[in-house]
Parts: sequence; structure tokens; C-alpha cells
Amino acid sequence: MVFCCICDTANYDICIYLISDLFLERHFFMTEKTIFEKILHGEIPCKPLYEDEYTLAFHDINPQAPVHILVIPKRKIINVANSNESDIEQMGRVLFTAKKVAEISGIAKTGYRLIINNGDDGGQTVYYMHCHILGGRYLSWPPG
Ligand code: AMP
Repeated sequence: MVFCCICDTANYDICIYLISDLFLERHFFMTEKTIFEKILHGEIPCKPLYEDEYTLAFHDINPQAPVHILVIPKRKIINVANSNESDIEQMGRVLFTAKKVAEISGIAKTGYRLIINNGDDGGQTVYYMHCHILGGRYLSWPPG
């Protein structure tokens, strides 16, 4: 089974992106869903913290700080490098949700770090754009 990266349909007839230049340029049918798509579709569990129409925030399974939350857009963006103008609102929503998550999890006053890994050298392991929110301890700089 293959799914469109944007609308998640497995049906070529109803995937509107299939016929557009945009689709040819930056979207493709993947043979497997990423772990975050499986979370979004309820196929595997997560520990959710916040959800709205555009984003979902949940606890990272392998936390690197006392608070480590991930925010994902509900409409798929592979990563920043693969984004385009149609993703601007989604990307802004991810950051605004990160702000809310920091408030909800009690790290807004002490400070926190937002990280969006991009590509192999950037340390991206899940190719579905996500923002890490790390806090609850002092975070040194530069990162490793
Ligand atoms: P990145 O390396 O930036 O692509 O980040 C991927 C993150 O996803 C890592 O911090 C993982 O610990 C986290 N992760 C992987 N699988 C899960 C999962 N099932 N639930 C929550 N977080 C996950």
C-alpha cells in the first residue's frame, strides 16, 4: 500500500496533488508511513499533551531533558528543506503550538530550546517535520 505524503490517500484518483507540478517537484508516494503518521492515524499510541486543528504535541519516547515534547503539523511536511509557500501557515502553527506547550509544561519562565533537525547531517531520523521542545534543565551550547 502506498500513501500520498500530503493528503495520505492511498487512492490515486482522489489525490489532487498527483496531477500538479508541485506534486512532481516535491511530493511522492511513499511505500511506508513514518512513525509520526502512524501516531496521527491512531495506529500506534503516544502520550499527547496538546492538540488543535493544525498540530499535535506529544512526549518524546526517548527524552533528552526533563521536558521533551515533539510538535508535528497535521498536514505532512517532510522537513524544512522540502517546504514551500503552501506550508508557511503550518510551520507557523508548529512554532505557536511549541509556545503553548512550553506554557502547559511549566518551562516558559525558565526557558527552553526549540530544535528542528533537517536532513541526515542535521540529525533528522523521522522524515516528517517536527519541532523538539526541550527544557527543565540548563541546555549547553553549542550542541554536539
Ligand atoms: P529527529 O531525530 O529530529 O528526527 O527526532 C525524532 C524523535 O522522535 C526522536 O527524539 C525520537 O526519540 C522520537 N520518537 C521516535 N519514535 C517515537 C514515538 N513512537 N513516540 C514518541 N517519540 C518518538
